[in-house]
Amino acid sequence: MSSVKSKTPARIRGLNEVGRYAVGIQWSDGHDSIYPLENLRRGCRCNACAGGAGQALSAADLRLARFARLGEEAVFIEWSDGHETLFTTDQLRELCRCALCAGEPERPITGD
Ligand SMILES: [Zn+2]
Ligand SMILES: [Zn+2]
Repeated sequence: MSSVKSKTPARIRGLNEVGRYAVGIQWSDGHDSIYPLENLRRGCRCNACAGGAGQALSAADLRLARFARLGEEAVFIEWSDGHETLFTTDQLRELCRCALCAGEPERPITGD
């Protein structure tokens, strides 16, 4: 698995709820991401979740109680079961499953 790191990490321009089961993020580089809540919950990197990554999540675990943008570089989510997740922009971009990110077209490395 190759990791493509951009030199200038995108910042978060906008954050919104998409329907009841997803969160959308608009990025400073023009990218748009939509994250199903299940992907976000499974993507939680906290100690508790890292230990139980395969655990079954009920619908109640996958509801948002609260979410907020922390500046332009992190998103905080509080779940309806009281769990809290903090995502950095790097983690969020890794979780994006849009056609562009999933396909990860080879981009020429250009010096600037
Ligand atoms: Zn967690
Ligand atoms: Zn994407």
